[in-house]
Amino acid sequence: MSVVVLGGAGYIGSHTVRALCESGYDVAVVDNLSTGHREAVHPKAKFYEGDIGDISFMRSVFAKEQCRAVIHFAAFSQVGESVVKPLKYYENNLGKTRNLLEAMVAEGVDKVVFSSSAAVYGEPKQVPILEGDPTEPTNPYGETKLAMEKMFRWVGNAHGIRFVSLRYFNACGADPSTEIGEDHDPETHLIPLILQTANGKREKISIFGTDYPTKDGTCIRDYIHVCDLAQAHILALEYLCRGGESDIFNLGNGVGFSVREVIETVREVTGHPIPAQESGRRAGDPAQLIASSQKAMDVLGWKPQLASLQEIVSTAWQWHRTHPAGYRTEIISEGEV
Ligand code: UDP
Repeated sequence: MSVVVLGGAGYIGSHTVRALCESGYDVAVVDNLSTGHREAVHPKAKFYEGDIGDISFMRSVFAKEQCRAVIHFAAFSQVGESVVKPLKYYENNLGKTRNLLEAMVAEGVDKVVFSSSAAVYGEPKQVPILEGDPTEPTNPYGETKLAMEKMFRWVGNAHGIRFVSLRYFNACGADPSTEIGEDHDPETHLIPLILQTANGKREKISIFGTDYPTKDGTCIRDYIHVCDLAQAHILALEYLCRGGESDIFNLGNGVGFSVREVIETVREVTGHPIPAQESGRRAGDPAQLIASSQKAMDVLGWKPQLASLQEIVSTAWQWHRTHPAGYRTEIISEGEV
């Protein structure tokens, strides 16, 4: 009986697959490789190339793997792109998850842990943000994640599927082994973009917005290590396997850093000057997102292990300097960089 991981070749998915394999789970990955990387999938995991929106394909995978639980990462995740191409997000994130649920119902797969996002909250009225706070997304990406949560709730009620929705704040860092890490094309996230500047792949980093109502005028985010997110998925899976009720949990460190502070930390860690240029706001960005993860700590027993921004940036830097072209890099040993 396998845990089927949808989107297991992506950034957070591949770190979770690795953690599951290292904890002794049988794992099967489904990924259409539209944004994921085959090389990112742990060698102990089975791999199926295919689309979660393909109902007969998903039914055959569930039947073959005798699957009762899935972890679902397969979604598009760029806030800016979602504002420009909302239908792409509705089709992929919502439409395909609808088909996935039909396949789960048909094959009796009754547990799912899935990626949600801090983007469901929109501009928070207060920080730290609690799970019961208002959800008013400021971009289509957040809207699709919120709609996915509601779809799981209604379909779960009707068909006996239990779910855990994990609302990640800003995922970052890389596995300390340096074997897997973050590789998006195009890259849009702050920490990898700053590290590409340190690597000489970019001339400078742009600061999107300096007139936010924050301490230094730049956006504040709660950065959480991808390996800590991976552990939370395993804990959520175990919670559902123990009979836990459907629920929603925030995952963050509970500490906010401004864009300027993140750039400064990368300067300290890499020793590179990192030229920065102030520019206008990016559409859809809330000023401040900081999590309360107390509920995940109390109910799931989760505790982040790589919580300092220095540690997070250091692991990301190890990945970027050994893999300057991501998974397309010829292996560079530590001694050569
Ligand atoms: N950001 C920035 N310059 C960049 C990329 C991002 O100033 O080149 C800012 C972005 O506006 C946001 C923060 O960095 O305030 C984190 O953005 P990211 O895309 O990493 O994550 P998000 O918060 O959108 O999930």
